[in-house]
Amino acid sequence: MTRLVALIGKPLKRRHSQVMHDAAFDARGIDARYVLREIESDEVEGVVASARGDGWLGLGVTAPYKRVVAELVDEVEPDAQTIGAVNNVVRTDDGRLIGINTDAPGFRAGVELAMGRPLAGVDVVVAGAGGAAHAVVYACLTAGAARVTVGSRTPDAAAALLARFAEVGEARRTATGLDDAFVAASRSADVAVNATTVGMIDPGMTIPVDDLPAHATVFDLVYVPAVTPLLAAARARGLRAANGSEMLIQQAAIAFERWTGVGGMADVMRTAVAPLLADATVRA
Ligand code: NAP
Repeated sequence: MTRLVALIGKPLKRRHSQVMHDAAFDARGIDARYVLREIESDEVEGVVASARGDGWLGLGVTAPYKRVVAELVDEVEPDAQTIGAVNNVVRTDDGRLIGINTDAPGFRAGVELAMGRPLAGVDVVVAGAGGAAHAVVYACLTAGAARVTVGSRTPDAAAALLARFAEVGEARRTATGLDDAFVAASRSADVAVNATTVGMIDPGMTIPVDDLPAHATVFDLVYVPAVTPLLAAARARGLRAANGSEMLIQQAAIAFERWTGVGGMADVMRTAVAPLLADATVRA
């Protein structure tokens, strides 16, 4: 029996995850497929229930269902509970469904690779306060960042994000708008993260690149297009800069290991998805 993982969301415009997971299944001779299921909100409950069956390894979950799925599974791991989002579901051998979040560890692996050092002790500025920013900030706090500044064009959202994580980590933390206070914090940042859709949907950039220290790393969660205006500006200044592709690959490899017990598949996934990541015609 070919077992399944279904990615649920709406819209589903990208095949990156499918290409990575199917390549990893094939490389290990695992009889399983990763399928895309663009579904309406009233179908989510039924699809989640069906994933308790023998033919399933689990689910991938993307917008706008990362919150609602947490209400439909049998258990949500503490990290995913605190972040408030489930981006993958693991089916246990006895048919229980566990909601997990692999964006946070995927971000940590990706940004540490980009920085060339651990997150522990660093000064981070994060633009955005949406779903991805929650995973980013949680990863920074749990990894021991020294200072975290969250800037959002909706300042209340930045404040709510930090309030949610009030008990997590020891970092000094500040919520701001994308304003002068954010620029001031950027002047001492070791790493600046764009966790908004700017650069993918809206033009422009959220990080004041010219105000960053010369040693800073810029990490843009956006990976389509591969080079955003933010990354271009950071590289023009000679800063270390990376897009979100490594986060995408690392979070997928973590999910794959949870579904199959097989770790170490990031290299296979990176090779498989490289043509899609390089294809400038792939749009959001
Ligand atoms: P989301 O929940 O919809 O949040 C979007 C965020 O972007 C909000 O904070 C929003 O602010 C902000 N924003 C949107 N337009 C803006 C603008 N013109 N100026 C300033 N801020 C703006 O989306 P998400 O799920 O967090 O995703 C954010 C980005 O991360 C997306 O590009 C997504 O593709 C990427 N992502 C990448 C990975 C990866 O593995 N690389 C994983 C997850 C997400 P308001 O609240 O003010 O609207």
